[in-house]
Amino acid sequence: MVVGDISTGTDVLVIGAGPGGYVAAIRAGQLDLDVTLVEKDAYGGTCLNYGCIPSKAMITASDLAHEAGNAEEMGIYADPEVEMPELVEWKDGVVDQLTGGVEKLAKANGVSLMEGRAEFADEGKARVVHGGEGQGSETVEFEHAIVSTGSRPIEVPGFDFGDDPVLDSRQALAMDEVPESLVIVGAGYIGMELAGVFAKLGTDVTVVEMLDSVLPTYEDDLARPVKKRADELGIDFHFGQAASGWEEAGDGITVTTEDEDGDVSEFGAEKVLVAVGREPVTDTLGLENVGIEPNEDGFIETDDRARTEKDDIFAIGDVAGEPMLAHKASAEGQVAAEVIAGEPSALDQQAVPAAVFTDPEIGTVGLTEAEAEDDGFEPVVGQFPFNASGRALTTGHAEGFVRIVADEPSGFVLGAQIVGPEASELVAELGFAIEMGATLEDVASTIHTHPTLSEAVMEAAENALGHAIHTLNR
Ligand SMILES: Cc1cc2nc3c(=O)[nH]c(=O)nc-3n(C[C@H](O)[C@H](O)[C@H](O)COP(=O)(O)OP(=O)(O)OC[C@H]3O[C@@H](n4cnc5c(N)ncnc54)[C@H](O)[C@@H]3O)c2cc1C
Repeated sequence: MVVGDISTGTDVLVIGAGPGGYVAAIRAGQLDLDVTLVEKDAYGGTCLNYGCIPSKAMITASDLAHEAGNAEEMGIYADPEVEMPELVEWKDGVVDQLTGGVEKLAKANGVSLMEGRAEFADEGKARVVHGGEGQGSETVEFEHAIVSTGSRPIEVPGFDFGDDPVLDSRQALAMDEVPESLVIVGAGYIGMELAGVFAKLGTDVTVVEMLDSVLPTYEDDLARPVKKRADELGIDFHFGQAASGWEEAGDGITVTTEDEDGDVSEFGAEKVLVAVGREPVTDTLGLENVGIEPNEDGFIETDDRARTEKDDIFAIGDVAGEPMLAHKASAEGQVAAEVIAGEPSALDQQAVPAAVFTDPEIGTVGLTEAEAEDDGFEPVVGQFPFNASGRALTTGHAEGFVRIVADEPSGFVLGAQIVGPEASELVAELGFAIEMGATLEDVASTIHTHPTLSEAVMEAAENALGHAIHTLNR
């Protein structure tokens, strides 16, 4: 022990209070475990403070402003003015309400909260260095530890997040002025969500992407409506371009890119947002002191019970691998706490949904048709277009479709892909169907409220069975 150290003990030490860690801590508290949750920055982690929540608040506000100003077809004429400082204050209020709730819920469930940066010191021991000079450190002895240290944005060489016009997503979401022009490096989900926000707030947005499409990890027919809408919003895309550097130019900057032949292009803007992906945070944790080595992608490997190779150490959330999503982190957090408490708990990867909050939204869960085939199923597919949905037409957003993938012989629902209005919400029903082991017949014969978007889910199941009412059957 270092002079001046104090020493404490706990059943479960949770490192990092994002949606993985705080959920694990609360669940462990519910299970009567003695639990300590250490956080070095802000309760709620990336998701509540700098990711999911502020980005969705900005998406809602920019959608509202854009829709109000573009509703002539409905006989509505308006020219909304956006006061950015007030918008930011509202967004920050939402964040504060949620992060304050995390702290209260943790305490109410008997979780001891500790501020500081934790690092493994030895088997069964971590050191927590408290923030600020002279605030000291302490050694925490634990029976079990749950690592939930999350991820951080990947930097592109030549683009340092410390340099003012170069932004990561966190900085982009904290701006209290709308930039006149913005280059976004990366057309993944974070880049595309923020491209939509700023385009709708009036920024001239240019997106440069190394690959040849937007949302490259999604099927083409899901990404296509998103690209089409982005084109309509005036977003300027340049594919096959790797960002190579930037320099000051006049009042703004010039961003340089290179294609695979080495040809150089230049794009002028006020700022540049780099959104090329995120990497797990494992390097400042002292993992070597407990004999854990991250894999070649930097993730801590775990099994379906969130256990690492060391019996007493668990890892959850972004640090434990793809998909790097908040609800996967929370589900793993619950599993880790339950396994530590001796309960028979495990994570079913196939029922983990994903959503992209672009315009239109994308929601996916389970297997695609191609994946189902690769896994040896005999897939049958049903699809229902939103332009045949009464409710979709009444919202003014009738692009996209619901697709459902099932195993033909057994009828079991295997997966779904949705692009269109409220896809992020609609996908929940199909995640539930997979979790329950539901068949196409179960989904098709469930009476859905009319007129709702959810009827499209029922009709997609009926279409797979060959008897949809409101679309032609296969
Ligand atoms: C712009 C943006 C939008 C996003 N939108 C969505 C979305 O809509 N839906 C979705 O599901 N996901 C979204 N995500 C991803 C989501 O934020 C992450 O998947 C989620 O936050 C992961 O949770 P986690 O608990 O693993 O880690 P994090 O939320 O990153 O939390 C980790 C915590 O650990 C703390 N920490 C790290 N090291 C230490 C240490 N040594 N000691 C103490 N504390 C430490 C950090 O300060 C942090 O608070 C988004 C991300 C971004 C950036």
